Amino acid sequence: MDELQNALNNKSLTISTFPEKGRCLFTTRDFSPGEVIISESPYVSVPNKNKESPESKCEWCFSSTNLKKCSACHVVWYCSSICQKSDWKLHCVECQALKKVDKERLKSITPSIRLMVRLCIRRKLENQKIFPTTATDNYKLVEALVSHMSDVNEKQLVLYAQMANLVNLILQWPDSEINIKEIAEIFSKLACNAHTICDSELRPLGTGLYPVISIINHSCLPNSVLVFEGRLAVVRAMQHIPKGTEVLISYIEIAGSTITRQKALKEQYFFTCTCSRCIKLGQSDDIRESAILEGYRCKDNECNGFLLRDSDDKGFICQQCGLLRNKEEISIIANELKYISERATMSLSSGYKTEASVAYKMIEELQMKLYHPFSVNLMRTRETLLKILMELQDWKEALSYCRLTIPIYERVYPRYHPLIGLQYYMCGKLEWLLGETEAAVKSLTKALDILRITHGTKTPFMLELLSKLEEARAEASYMLRSQNED
Ligand SMILES: [Zn+2]
Ligand SMILES: [Zn+2]
Ligand SMILES: [Zn+2]
Ligand SMILES: [Zn+2]
Repeated sequence: MDELQNALNNKSLTISTFPEKGRCLFTTRDFSPGEVIISESPYVSVPNKNKESPESKCEWCFSSTNLKKCSACHVVWYCSSICQKSDWKLHCVECQALKKVDKERLKSITPSIRLMVRLCIRRKLENQKIFPTTATDNYKLVEALVSHMSDVNEKQLVLYAQMANLVNLILQWPDSEINIKEIAEIFSKLACNAHTICDSELRPLGTGLYPVISIINHSCLPNSVLVFEGRLAVVRAMQHIPKGTEVLISYIEIAGSTITRQKALKEQYFFTCTCSRCIKLGQSDDIRESAILEGYRCKDNECNGFLLRDSDDKGFICQQCGLLRNKEEISIIANELKYISERATMSLSSGYKTEASVAYKMIEELQMKLYHPFSVNLMRTRETLLKILMELQDWKEALSYCRLTIPIYERVYPRYHPLIGLQYYMCGKLEWLLGETEAAVKSLTKALDILRITHGTKTPFMLELLSKLEEARAEASYMLRSQNED
């Protein structure tokens, strides 16, 4: 590990270990907003393929264009011979194994199984000195990751054992080279350490193991952000980070009450968060915030107060005007919501988008009656509606929902959060499309202000944003000139 510490020292970082928190990554100099703190290529990675992301992707760079199947195993795809070559050392062993798997079994091979197969192969190749290692890229770093085996429940353990068996069946290595129990334990490591690789717009593309970035701990109010540039994971400072500060990213969706966030962290990562937001649990500020994010709205439509449970348990009382909303009235709306939500999900999963959009608008209306205007539930419904309306190419309505989500994003996320930048970007693109040039310039400028911090400035994604903004600016000034001439 001294090797790793040395390599990190050269990047103005250091690892400190604390009994209650384990390893933590600290800065040894100041970092300014947008500066890259650390970047890492995956130890192993694999593209995903599921309902949300059904298209095939390049095994190496996750691109979904110009793909060709590996002609030997017919399982993996590559977008170019460069990508195929880069992956060959590992895939040539994997390919031999996959070729022998019968068609029926191939269907049961999930991305997590493939990730584990790749991990086993890489470790073996490293041991045989076929695969080169560096201080920041070797199996010892995977060994050092936490596994939480003792926290995993019985059912999950059985599942891990089954998955380990499948890995064994695929590899068909002699007993001396493979240990089912150990593989089951690595599966539990992957569950809390592997990262979802996303594109610049935060759509999931695959899964990767980044053992150095895995050292970075979680905060519900993070100072840094993890984004991906192809397969490369990049952590950037979201704010000024002074020397001697712990680098923190968020592992989960941070829009939610403290209880919701803590539950998510406990279930997937097995720890109780003690970040600056979480230590306020139960204090008046935290109670108010949770009631706004997940609680009901005041009976009086003009009142923006938040509601807390009444001591007589008759219902919920507005903390601003004192009006009571009784339980019965709330449960009538909640039941109606449940009924329509089931219908909406069904329409959506069967691909009836127009019907789904009608149903989600009914949900939105009911939620506006039930929840606080800054409710996360309402925000999620509007996100879903925005997505459906974009697919239906109803740009005008999509724009109105995009605009509705922004004030809530700005409330629940830190100032330079990628989601706020991306939402402004979408807003700007829609405004541009609908001929609202001046508004587009404003939105795209806001998008750029945020995304240059979280995404850097040099990726194709950012270059496209820059050129869109330039185009919109040119058009706006042209329009201004012709108005003046009239
Ligand atoms: Zn590729
Ligand atoms: Zn192959
Ligand atoms: Zn927290
Ligand atoms: Zn009120």
